[in-house]
Amino acid sequence: MLDRTRLRIAMQKSGRLSDESRELFARCGIKINLQEQRLIAFAENMPIDILRVRDDDIPGLVMDGVVDLGIIGENVLEEELLSRRAQGEDPRYITLRRLDFGGCRLSIAMPLDAEYQGPQSLQNSRIATSYPHLLKRYLDEQKVRFKSCLLNGSVEVAPRAGLSDAICDLVSTGATLEANGLREVDVIYRSKATLIQRDGEMSDEKQQLINKMLTRMQGVIQARESKYIMLHAPSDRLDEIIALLPGAERPTLLPLAGDKNRVAMHMVSSETLFWETMEQLKALGASSILVLPIEKMME
Ligand code: ATP
Ligand code: MG
Repeated sequence: MLDRTRLRIAMQKSGRLSDESRELFARCGIKINLQEQRLIAFAENMPIDILRVRDDDIPGLVMDGVVDLGIIGENVLEEELLSRRAQGEDPRYITLRRLDFGGCRLSIAMPLDAEYQGPQSLQNSRIATSYPHLLKRYLDEQKVRFKSCLLNGSVEVAPRAGLSDAICDLVSTGATLEANGLREVDVIYRSKATLIQRDGEMSDEKQQLINKMLTRMQGVIQARESKYIMLHAPSDRLDEIIALLPGAERPTLLPLAGDKNRVAMHMVSSETLFWETMEQLKALGASSILVLPIEKMME
């Protein structure tokens, strides 16, 4: 029997979100033994149980209050929301944090030789998709009448198989579309993975644990997006150098032994330094420029 006092989190068992979800938990200090076949994994060092399921099931598990938290692509979440609303339900959940992985877009694609001059070109067409509600919302806004053909996989072969005129599917690089003789003509939704919480009462213990996890996630994500930058700079060009550095309002300045004209500058930047910026810094007299990854941070 499961212990309801432990925080339950649903994540994708295997697929595009599972490795990064697992990595995020690990970086937050949650030790989980994820044996391949088990549906439920227990954290060893925190009162957390991880439920590993198909991604399509995660929004429903959160909306029905079966799990406390879930990591899910916004595309699947939004589709489930629209689908439940269409059935007269009023599903509830809370978005805790957009995550920094799982980026993709839901796009309309057509055969290379088909003409496309905006959504009106789709008037009365058949469109194959696994996301009928997101597609309908978009085309209703554009006042386009269409028929959707629901496919849960291999959507990209539908036009060639004569099942549809166009498709509406997830794209990240576009390579799959290209391999199937299709071209992306319109982006209807941009998605990332997100952390959601069920609606309703949460015990103080669970709420504290959620807050702690959120702070840690914030630290992990911020650290991944940040860089530690060190360089040596001529003291008389500091203003110009600082102006070139992203987010460098208050760098630390340290004296350099035996050199009165130069200082060492250390700073955390919210972005990485591009080669172009490094070349400009060098042209201003900076040297020994180092850009280092940050493992963790807490503000
Ligand atoms: P499951 O077996 O869990 O149902 P699935 O095959 O439905 O898995 P995946 O292909 O693993 O799903 O994708 C999961 C999520 O990853 C997508 O819903 C989307 O949010 C995100 N994603 C990121 N990039 C892509 C991409 N190029 N194609 C599809 N999904 C992507
Ligand atoms: Mg799925």
